[in-house]
Amino acid sequence: MLPKAQAAAGAVLCGKLLDVRTGRLLNNQLILWDKDGLITSTGAANSATSGVVPIDLSGSTCLPGLIDVHTHVTSDPQNSGYKGLGISTPREAVIGVKNARLLLLAGFTSIRNVGASHYTDVAVRDGINAGEIPGPRLMVSGPPLTITGGHCDENLLPSEFNYKAEGVADGPWAVRQKVREVIKFGADVIKTCASGGVLSKGGHPGVEQYTLEEMQAIVSEAHRLGRKVAAHAHGAESIKDAIRAGVDSVEHCSFIDDEGIRLAKERGTYLVFDIYNDDYILSQGEKNGVLPESLEKERQLGRLQRENFRKAFQAGARMAFGTDAGVYPHGDNAKQFAKMIEWGMKPIDAIQSATINAADLLGLSDKVGVLEKGHYADIVAVRGNPLDDITILEHVSFVMKGGTVYRNDIAR
Ligand SMILES: [Zn+2]
Repeated sequence: MLPKAQAAAGAVLCGKLLDVRTGRLLNNQLILWDKDGLITSTGAANSATSGVVPIDLSGSTCLPGLIDVHTHVTSDPQNSGYKGLGISTPREAVIGVKNARLLLLAGFTSIRNVGASHYTDVAVRDGINAGEIPGPRLMVSGPPLTITGGHCDENLLPSEFNYKAEGVADGPWAVRQKVREVIKFGADVIKTCASGGVLSKGGHPGVEQYTLEEMQAIVSEAHRLGRKVAAHAHGAESIKDAIRAGVDSVEHCSFIDDEGIRLAKERGTYLVFDIYNDDYILSQGEKNGVLPESLEKERQLGRLQRENFRKAFQAGARMAFGTDAGVYPHGDNAKQFAKMIEWGMKPIDAIQSATINAADLLGLSDKVGVLEKGHYADIVAVRGNPLDDITILEHVSFVMKGGTVYRNDIAR
């Protein structure tokens, strides 16, 4: 079942190819790649194929593999609240193996994972890179940094259990040490919880957790060691402090105000609004074990977050596509595109957020996000035109990562 990770040189013929930089659809394009899975040329199909018989996607539209910058690949939504306490670390890793495959088959060829316990996401990444399991290119954070009792601590157990999450660190030097520690154990990116959250016990999304001073220490240490920082922040003050501290992206952004939007634009900070999962949490949360207080918090901020998404987009803030998959089932990630259109984007804006913008946030603009020479042959294909109907991205019929085909419902 598992295609050989070792790619061979090859070619694909696309009936249409979406140039995600310009939004133009090009006809009859041939993409060639080498044995390392890197694109060697793209262009009109009359050019020479050097004897390679291309994969025939002449009835489809090709675009670059999609990118989700906010996932929890080792989490499943049905393990919410107290149910999650019964999930062991090895079990969590197995969940990650399952979800990595689902993400890839759904057309997501690169993922940034922002938060997993005990480095389970590092293990999944390494298994994928070793060619042992199918999955997207994974950039992972390991445990998220959090204040004691904060959103990313584990607050479900009373004191006699003496338990805290691995990412707990209080104070500027303790957070620097924690940044060094998560990098030591394999983090590609640093995730920090700047404000309270929805799905944790206690606290409120609007309330600040890390101080500006602590976040400055996190960012300075992470950047010194060559890692970017993603900050979970719902509250307006936490968002602004995170941006002032120099984080590379703010996640959720629910209560962002005009000053926060202005600061994000000034600093070029990416805003990552997860505006699909609200409907899922409210309809399925109770059965999944989500705490009643969490459902109440979601009710308070869901609509406001979507309104602020529209406001920030219209103001010209940089946006990257991130969904919080794990809070809802993996593989449904593309359902967020329709929400982004409903709340103000054009289809090409939403596609850019999940290709060129996301690649830029990951620091991988030279390798993913576009189908151009020197980039990985990460290609998805759909039947129809996603610029006319964005929901066709929910049903990709072809997925290739680095020149290896993982899904092909067309050429059968
Ligand atoms: Zn998250």
